[in-house]
Amino acid sequence: MAETRASRNLRVATVSLAGCFGCHMSLLDIDERLFSLAGRVVFDRSPLTDLKTLGECDLGLVEGGLCNAENVEVLRRFRSRCRVLVAVGACAINGGLPAQRNALDVGDLLEAVYARDQPGLAPGSRVPDDPELPLPLARVHPIHEVVRVDHFLPGCPPSADVIWAFLSALVEGRDPTPPRDLIRYD
Ligand code: SF4
Repeated sequence: MAETRASRNLRVATVSLAGCFGCHMSLLDIDERLFSLAGRVVFDRSPLTDLKTLGECDLGLVEGGLCNAENVEVLRRFRSRCRVLVAVGACAINGGLPAQRNALDVGDLLEAVYARDQPGLAPGSRVPDDPELPLPLARVHPIHEVVRVDHFLPGCPPSADVIWAFLSALVEGRDPTPPRDLIRYD
């Protein structure tokens, strides 16, 4: 895979699919080191910019796995627009916490939450079926089951240090594979 040249700004998009935003918080935990990227990194679509459309990007950072049809659509768009795609965190890499529902039937789960006699449910409550709602997938999937992934940053979340090591290497045109001692698998 050809890596980004150091000679121009890196255009970066980020997204949270079936995740908790913890990986994005870890990105922000890079703290003041982020300032050294000013002028070298431009953020495209991201919760950090609130842009809703995705342009052509050098780098796409994907937090979270795939729990519904909209996640799949967004992920495919990221793959088609981002030259380098990164699975950030356990949920993107193996489904993480949301994948704990995989042993159960999604229809049963929805019925249990919305439609069975539960304290606090209004009489006549039923499973939401508005066509605007994204269709849940039967299982939560890691992103590499749907698109090609160029790099994996494990951890729940990956530390700010490992994200920093990865990003700064890419910006400087070096091999972004993070040092082993920064990788963790929680
Ligand atoms: Fe949240 Fe951990 Fe999943 Fe990141 S890997 S989205 S921190 S649960």
